[in-house]
Amino acid sequence: MRILFSIFILLSISACSNNQSPADSLSNNQVKYLTVLHTNDNHGRFWHNEKGEYGMAARKTLIDELRNDAKQQGHAVLLLSGGDINTGIPESDLQFAEPDFKGMSLIGYDAMALGNHEFDNPLDILKKQQQWANFPLLSANIFDKKTGKNAFQAYKIFNKQGLKIAVVGLTTTDTAKIGNPQYIGGLEFKEPVAVTKALVENIKAQYQPDITIAVTHMGHFVDANYGINAPGDVTLARLLPSNTLDMIIGGHSQEPICMAGENINDDDFRPGKACKPDQQNGTWIMQAHEWGKYVGKAEFKLENGQLTLLDYKLLPVNLYIHEQQADGTTKPVLANEYITPNPELEAFLAEYQAKGAKQIEGKIGFVDAKLEGDRNKVRFEQTNLARVIIQAQMNTVGADFGVISGGGIRDSITAGEVSYKDILKVHPFKNRITYMDWKGQELWDYLEIVTSFPPDAGAYLQYHKLSFIRDNGELKQVRINGEPLNVEQTYRMSINSYNASGGDGYPILVDRKGYVSTDETDAQALKRFFEANSPVKVAEFSPK
Ligand SMILES: [Zn+2]
Repeated sequence: MRILFSIFILLSISACSNNQSPADSLSNNQVKYLTVLHTNDNHGRFWHNEKGEYGMAARKTLIDELRNDAKQQGHAVLLLSGGDINTGIPESDLQFAEPDFKGMSLIGYDAMALGNHEFDNPLDILKKQQQWANFPLLSANIFDKKTGKNAFQAYKIFNKQGLKIAVVGLTTTDTAKIGNPQYIGGLEFKEPVAVTKALVENIKAQYQPDITIAVTHMGHFVDANYGINAPGDVTLARLLPSNTLDMIIGGHSQEPICMAGENINDDDFRPGKACKPDQQNGTWIMQAHEWGKYVGKAEFKLENGQLTLLDYKLLPVNLYIHEQQADGTTKPVLANEYITPNPELEAFLAEYQAKGAKQIEGKIGFVDAKLEGDRNKVRFEQTNLARVIIQAQMNTVGADFGVISGGGIRDSITAGEVSYKDILKVHPFKNRITYMDWKGQELWDYLEIVTSFPPDAGAYLQYHKLSFIRDNGELKQVRINGEPLNVEQTYRMSINSYNASGGDGYPILVDRKGYVSTDETDAQALKRFFEANSPVKVAEFSPK
């Protein structure tokens, strides 16, 4: 592995030293240079973490430097994001990622791909975000079901330093499966290969771009092993005719794409180390992990229609690594020379950070032991946190019992004081509380489906005040609140809007008689529960 690396570095260096100087390139129309800078999967991280890692203000300092250096060398510069700006940090979520989109505008992004999490909010919020951004949010494969037309801007043509660059956006078709059906019901996510092939043919005929880039939010899966996910960037590059795309700037799988060899991931990559991006069917594929931890920098030379990657780096943004000490202990040290955050952007974002923190930090309740919300628990077995969540939702709508899918629970709550921040980590998606009034027979038919979802999936059913047996696949002995289910009786079931809209493959309830949606979100309901019932005693919610 190390040998391969060294060869790559040597090749890069020798390629650099053989270059014509920038002065030559300006006098020679045949040779042009492009630097592509990229990030992806910001997920609400406009502010640095407790250790001072990443954050948009330091990112701006680094990008300003890289852009100036590249311009001085006669390079065209493009700054792209692989999408998923939304969702992950309460301070950002509560403000609908306004600081994140405005921060990106101030940093000078040229374009981004729409990620699946851009659909976590209603579409009118996304419209607002498009206004906060002074750059386009691109996706060529999302269509309006009614009109059959592109729902978003599909591509943009850039003219920089005499280079014409086409940038096409693409979004994972998994958005249709994992996005909130309430918000994306009117959108069709088309298979990207056919869309890209046709679109790029048109763009090339109309504009004759020197370089064609796809900025995507589809994920990078080594050797196209995408498993249960929708196919990602590797599949796209392999299935397109070669020479369709020069490079794919991606996101979604939230990894540094650093390869140890052909179709072999470099598991030893660490911040500050060399990184060789993937290349499939002549198309470079790059991704910069997540949260703005790195800025990817790719330097290209275009000569006689031939695009050559001169150098590639994943530049860490104030990341710490654990350095082994002589006495066997480890010490955190910066992987890069400290990057001073840009003071203007830091001041601008600090106001949003303070506003968000104020909204969420106060104590709202108390719990006497841990409430289990770990991903490896809530998708496999009944947990106490699921029961507290469902009780809170039942209380909101006066339900007899309730259900939610395990995949909707995103974090645990530790023993002690509870803040709104803790709750928003459990419930980042702002689903609404809804309910269904129906006869026992209809309910039985519904339960036959949702109780059959297997563990190890987001769909796995969490339930409260409900019991049943599944015997050889057959549903038996259903009890609601301890009483046998009566097919003639009417029951009220609480459920969130995500599952009621068909999320995680649940039967769609929203257009059925007896369905009612409230305006209360799951986070608000859980907050109210802690405010009214603290100290919450975990033993009362222990799954039997
Ligand atoms: Zn994503």
